[in-house]
Amino acid sequence: MTDSPTVNNDFIRDIVRADLAAGRYGGRVQTRFPPEPNGYLHIGHAKAIVQDFGVARDFGGVCNLRLDDTNPGTEEAEFVESIKEDIAWLGYTPGRVVHASDYFFQLYEWAEYLVERGLAYVDDQDGETISAQRGGFGSPGVESPFRDRPAAESLDLLRRMRAGEFPDGSRCLRARIDMQAENMWLRDPVMYRIRHAHHHNTGDAWCLYPTYDWAHGQSDAIEGVTHSLCTLEFDSHRPLYDWFLAHLPVAEPPRQYEFARLELTHTITSKRRLKALVDQGIVDGWDDPRMPTLRGMRRRGYPAAAVRDFCTAIGTTRNNSVKAIEEFESFVRRELNRTAQRRMAVLRPIRLVLTNWPAGTVEYVELANNPENPADGTRSVPFSGELYIEADDFAEVPPPKFFRLSPGREVRLRGAYFVTATDVIKDADGAVVQVNATYDPATRGGDAPDGRKVKSTMHWVSVPHATPIDVALYERLFVTAAPGEATGEALDDLNPNSRELLLGCRGEPALADCAPGQVVQFERLGYFAADADRPGLFHRTVGLKDEWAAVQRRQG
Ligand code: ATP
Ligand code: MG
Repeated sequence: MTDSPTVNNDFIRDIVRADLAAGRYGGRVQTRFPPEPNGYLHIGHAKAIVQDFGVARDFGGVCNLRLDDTNPGTEEAEFVESIKEDIAWLGYTPGRVVHASDYFFQLYEWAEYLVERGLAYVDDQDGETISAQRGGFGSPGVESPFRDRPAAESLDLLRRMRAGEFPDGSRCLRARIDMQAENMWLRDPVMYRIRHAHHHNTGDAWCLYPTYDWAHGQSDAIEGVTHSLCTLEFDSHRPLYDWFLAHLPVAEPPRQYEFARLELTHTITSKRRLKALVDQGIVDGWDDPRMPTLRGMRRRGYPAAAVRDFCTAIGTTRNNSVKAIEEFESFVRRELNRTAQRRMAVLRPIRLVLTNWPAGTVEYVELANNPENPADGTRSVPFSGELYIEADDFAEVPPPKFFRLSPGREVRLRGAYFVTATDVIKDADGAVVQVNATYDPATRGGDAPDGRKVKSTMHWVSVPHATPIDVALYERLFVTAAPGEATGEALDDLNPNSRELLLGCRGEPALADCAPGQVVQFERLGYFAADADRPGLFHRTVGLKDEWAAVQRRQG
């Protein structure tokens, strides 16, 4: 496990080390994280962030946040702010925050530069014709009739395109590479499209917008990026990335390196699909605790350190693989075990009345806030003769192997006393609403001086001191490990019971003082995060039981 962030190793760091040893880029290391601001960041982006910022940090370099806003219209300020917040939450600070649109002017100048050298041309055909002429694997591309027009004519047209003389889609600028190239991206790719559209950053200054391929590597070069890290689907774009930079006046071009996307079982990591969940009201919003977005995970109580550690520990490779959600959860659990204070809460309460308790007496039980971290101190939890216990910690007729409370059975109330159930009170429907019991005053603190043992220790909350709380329990959002695998539509595999809201739960008094967002362990039940906005609401972050070991065994 990597508690130490400096021992990271992967093929990308090997490359960086070799570049440094060879004196490339004057010993500089610069990366960037380039999200398109059209949605909220998710766990897949976290992997990229940890990689991009981590490499820069490990080698004393810089990582910029570059908002890839080459598409007018789709970007929204809301997303930009959330992206910045999410990166900060993950614990990283961008060297600079820049926009691809900051480079529109330089990009345009470089486009003219290529046109002047016969390396790009204006094509008067429409987009449909151009894509039809592209051909396919093993089928030849067709050269545009405008491919060999004089550079001066292309330059004139490009300038008039820029000046707004032509309608959307009537012309475009293409790189002049090779219509028979095996790599489809090299078949005279489009560089600029005409779009008379308002842009959130550049306003109405432009009616030409660059394609991803024309913008990305050039932005890297302008910014001084040395190692441009991206996911494997861009592997086939790399020859084009290199071609543009090889033909531009760039002294030491950046290089692109691809690594495998992070995918998780029971999870979708496509912004489009996540948006559908929000738009269709399947979840409450982008920050719903069931969402694999960074804000969803944050609301649910996932510590940023656990997200970082997981992304680091799974490593960076070029092999696509799907990670088990249980492995991710084991990182969350491990971190919370270290950091979360313990509290007692009863989710489905029934009353336990101690019939021999001296009426009106309250005692205080001193419990460690976190046995894993003695520095967290202790707290005093009030104990009285009227308590709440979990309904399922009592069985009137105990099934085999049920060692918790039942009539005649003695158990320990955590940190307090041994109690023995005597009889029950039922409601009109026959449901147990109260269990009567006696306590043994000699067992104060939870141990019997005569050394007798009990088989079970239960949590409890004193009725007159209880804090009412509501609790949201979560199950997987998708029932299948690979949502949509069978039908092609992830939403077909939605779990209709992914959230269970429990109202009227009861917690020990200290729960009233939880800070918004604070995560505590409800003893025996799991980790729970206080909602960021609604006091008294707790989200189950993760249960206590580590399912990862079992999954590993199944995987063999
Ligand atoms: P989506 O397909 O959900 O729209 P995207 O890849 O288009 O995602 P961008 O905002 O363009 O999202 O991505 C920004 C960066 O995050 C890119 O470098 C991209 O490679 C990386 N990234 C996105 N998804 C993942 C993932 N699942 N695993 C690793 N990196 C990812
Ligand atoms: Mg994208």
